[in-house]
Amino acid sequence: MSAKVIYGDQLAQTLRDEMKTEVATLNKRGIHPKLVVILIGDDPASKSYVSGKQKAADYIGIQSELISLPTETSEDELLDLIRQLNKATDVNGILVQLPLPKHIDEQLIIETIDPTKDVDGFHPINIGKMMTNQATFLPCTPYGILTMLKLMNIEIAGKHAVIIGRSHIVGKPVGQLLLNEHATVTYCHSKTTNLKELVKLADIVVVAVGRAHMIDQSYIKAGATVIDVGVNRIEDGSLTGDVVFDSVKEKAAYLTPVPKGVGPMTITMLMKNTIKAAINQVTK
Ligand code: NDP
Repeated sequence: MSAKVIYGDQLAQTLRDEMKTEVATLNKRGIHPKLVVILIGDDPASKSYVSGKQKAADYIGIQSELISLPTETSEDELLDLIRQLNKATDVNGILVQLPLPKHIDEQLIIETIDPTKDVDGFHPINIGKMMTNQATFLPCTPYGILTMLKLMNIEIAGKHAVIIGRSHIVGKPVGQLLLNEHATVTYCHSKTTNLKELVKLADIVVVAVGRAHMIDQSYIKAGATVIDVGVNRIEDGSLTGDVVFDSVKEKAAYLTPVPKGVGPMTITMLMKNTIKAAINQVTK
């Protein structure tokens, strides 16, 4: 078997084209979705993620503003800025690029963002809504993964999904979204003792660890769908996933590549959330 490769970049392009049309229509109604991204410090990876977000916004016609602040920015300064943006009627979405410098309490920052502008979907109110299956801003990477599965018509209900990783931004919420779609979900993490045994039972495997080439075909049940979230920079400077692509491709039915897999979908769902925020804010 040779897996069908799910190219997230192509799916993302189709969605971005649809959103471009939607934003043009909203503009005619006087609605101009606007996202503000706050970047603290000069971490190259964060800068590159932020630039990807701005490019996507420009393409779709979403107004985007980048506020770049020095690493020494105090927690109080950042909190003040967020409170101002919460009040600004022309700002629909606020995103603080993570990780933040150590002297800033990340959770406090997340909880200060107005939940109706929390386009990253990290505010506890929005997480609670996701847990209880209510309409909300879904966190972008899990939302992107779910959208990919749906666009590829991959069945979720009744399937066994095994999630490797339990972070707040990827592992836990992706498992919850698949559970909401009626999958049976198993979470694995660094203390899991029988990882291979569990992963081999999966119809859908989501790998979100951040360890290059951790999962090869010996972990995979024939015909499974494998979603590789990991982004790892290896010695030659290139980016690679947590999955050994060529090995797993021989056994899985569907497989996402890195790059051009989950990453472009993550950014696209951020745009979708920003449009949703703009619509919600004018219709509330
Ligand atoms: P975290 O470091 O927050 O979480 C990693 C998870 O992997 C933890 O739950 C950890 O377990 C688990 N883990 C570590 N070692 C093992 C092991 N040997 N066996 C099983 N589980 C293990 O990472 P993130 O969730 O933030 O990100 C994961 C990867 O996804 C990274 O490479 C990141 O760059 C990438 N990423 C990609 C995105 C995209 O859009 N493409 C978006 C976000 C992230 P424990 O909880 O026990 O420590």
